[in-house]
Amino acid sequence: MSGRELVVLGTASQVPTRHRNHNGYLLRWDGQGILFDPGEGTQRQMLRAGVAAHDLNRICVTHFHGDHSLGVAGVIQRINLDRVPHEITAHFPRSGQKFFDRLRYATAYRETVQIGQAPLAGEGGVLATTPGYRLEARRLSHPVESYGYLLVEPDGRRLLPELLAAHGIKGPDVGRLQREGSLGAVTLDEVSELRRGQRFAFVMDTRLCEGVHALAYDCDMLVIESTFLDEDQQLAADHGHLTAGQAGAVARDAGVRHLVLTHFSQRYSDPDEFERQARAAGYEGELTVAHDLLRVPVPKRR
Ligand SMILES: [Zn+2]
Repeated sequence: MSGRELVVLGTASQVPTRHRNHNGYLLRWDGQGILFDPGEGTQRQMLRAGVAAHDLNRICVTHFHGDHSLGVAGVIQRINLDRVPHEITAHFPRSGQKFFDRLRYATAYRETVQIGQAPLAGEGGVLATTPGYRLEARRLSHPVESYGYLLVEPDGRRLLPELLAAHGIKGPDVGRLQREGSLGAVTLDEVSELRRGQRFAFVMDTRLCEGVHALAYDCDMLVIESTFLDEDQQLAADHGHLTAGQAGAVARDAGVRHLVLTHFSQRYSDPDEFERQARAAGYEGELTVAHDLLRVPVPKRR
């Protein structure tokens, strides 16, 4: 199993279909698990995908429509039933606090786990900083308040063995050099190169807006809604959604490496058409039209 991968739990917008569950996505990131937008039925989809409640560290809800949040009730009860020992933090629009509270306490159960809450407001911003990533959010444009999420891995340094050898640095001295930034006259920068951090963005339920472009910029993986096909662009605009061509154009302009299209309206029968339209918009990177229970590895570092 890859250390960084997207596990697709559901891909339907609005209503589930015979082949698509309501939304739901797990991002595995170096042993951390971030659950995005658990729609109805997410608990069972987790089971089918081999995702346990113990795998979760954060729950990120973009907005409080049912296809993005009805699963919060079941997932939180399962976290409590399984007595997950570590802290789990929920992020969601503060304007929807009453919905979160209702979902969290939708029915009676024995509460064994404290779910931390770090709701967002305004334009968004930095939500959490961990050694492995920084979690950010940006305001989107939808009939109810909606936010997209961005994971940014900090840049690091990659040691270059031939330069270490040229300076005669080996054994425990390598660790000292990394910790202290220099060893005698040799600095870490002299024997290493920049290792750019990876970026992952999750963009749901929005019309085109500044936030979409800001989140997508330079991403290694962009998971983005493409509810409609281009011929229904007016519908998309009216309901605050994107088309496949718009999603493709965003990914093209942003230099995205792997584009994952999802959140499809039940009105369409041919998933390949989403890919064709995203390609027609000029996107040339890797592209996946998501289906339930698919696993998509985050691309290897450049
Ligand atoms: Zn939706």
